[in-house]
Amino acid sequence: MSDALVIGSGLGGLLSGVILSRAGYRVTVLEKASQPGGCLQTFIREGLRFDTGFHSVAGLEEGGPLERIFRPLGLMDLPWEFVKEPDEIVLNGVSHRLTDLSYPLGNTLRLSSSTGDVTMDEYAHVMEPFKKGSWRLPSGDLLVKKLISLINGTVRTGCEVTAIEPGRVHCKDGRSYEGIVISDIHPWQTFALFRGHVRPSYLHRLQTLENAPGIFTVYCKLQPETIQYQPWSTNYNGDLMVHYGNPDGKGFARSVDLLTFSEKYVSDRTALAEELIGRVPGLSGAVEKFWTSTPATWERYTGTPGGSAFGIRKKDATCYVHPRTPVPGLYLTGQNCGLHGVLGVSETALLTCQEILGEATLNQILQR
Ligand SMILES: Cc1cc2nc3c(=O)[nH]c(=O)nc-3n(C[C@H](O)[C@H](O)[C@H](O)COP(=O)(O)OP(=O)(O)OC[C@H]3O[C@@H](n4cnc5c(N)ncnc54)[C@H](O)[C@@H]3O)c2cc1C
Repeated sequence: MSDALVIGSGLGGLLSGVILSRAGYRVTVLEKASQPGGCLQTFIREGLRFDTGFHSVAGLEEGGPLERIFRPLGLMDLPWEFVKEPDEIVLNGVSHRLTDLSYPLGNTLRLSSSTGDVTMDEYAHVMEPFKKGSWRLPSGDLLVKKLISLINGTVRTGCEVTAIEPGRVHCKDGRSYEGIVISDIHPWQTFALFRGHVRPSYLHRLQTLENAPGIFTVYCKLQPETIQYQPWSTNYNGDLMVHYGNPDGKGFARSVDLLTFSEKYVSDRTALAEELIGRVPGLSGAVEKFWTSTPATWERYTGTPGGSAFGIRKKDATCYVHPRTPVPGLYLTGQNCGLHGVLGVSETALLTCQEILGEATLNQILQR
């Protein structure tokens, strides 16, 4: 049996681990954080579970791009809830467009001045599928737990990789592991940890790539029975996403998350949080308490440089990083290689595993 070492337990790392397990590999996932899942982590405050980087996914309809990956891997038996957003909603007499997905401007879609232009590729692969509706889970950690249960091997948390050599990785706790290496962390960090020769032109190219901005999030606990729960997310002016939480999925929301792109450090978190809360009709009086996270928080938890929310920014085809590296036995996966999001990262995991297993074996695994 061959061994595969996966650095990072984000979606890309776990899904690659599941596919390689199906192909007969014994998989060891090495995760520096105390909780697995990377951007799919959740946390609990005052009895409320908050998702961090997972709210909804697209493409799970029969024959959809994500369903074609998730069904054969056994990920469709999670309690996915289908949500079809209306085109607009009326809150306190004001009509709000729910998404800006249908506003292509020439070849680009402008979401907001802070995010810059979204390329048509991102639009087509990441956002367009949302027009068919989206799917939610009661919490993102269900997906993480399911992925871990499908891995033939171990997921070691609290296990930071500090050095990579061809066919071997070393961890902070002094242990080392042998096998082919799949890195789910940023390529800059992967090669900062690499001990060995790499073509300078390859490293130079990686350094020229830029990262997408990070996200400032306000996690609000609501006073009882103040805000109606809605399963879909609301997008205010293209730069403020609002997600509603309620473990029962009906009646009143118990929590609300507000997300906006931001600089790495936010000098006055409370002021920004209050400004964002004030932009959502009826929310100011309903919030009992709130907590915030900045891109710096993300950097601390996931290690992503600058706390970038979506990793290397895919402005055009030259920004894609191929899963096969110049180092034999060292592969990349995750949102830094291809597109971000559950769909983008899952598609990249297929590419990574295809490089390792070959097309015929991968196709066999994905047969229904
Ligand atoms: C705020 C926010 C909201 C989002 N909302 C959605 C959404 O609603 N729907 C959607 O589809 N997508 C969403 N996304 C995007 C999606 O969450 C990500 O694209 C995806 O989860 C990234 O997975 P990944 O495997 O590439 O990397 P990550 O999740 O970043 O995983 C990398 C892992 O590597 C670990 N690591 C780092 N360094 C080391 C080391 N040296 N040794 C060991 N481990 C290490 C980290 O701790 C982390 O667990 C959102 C993202 C953000 C930030």
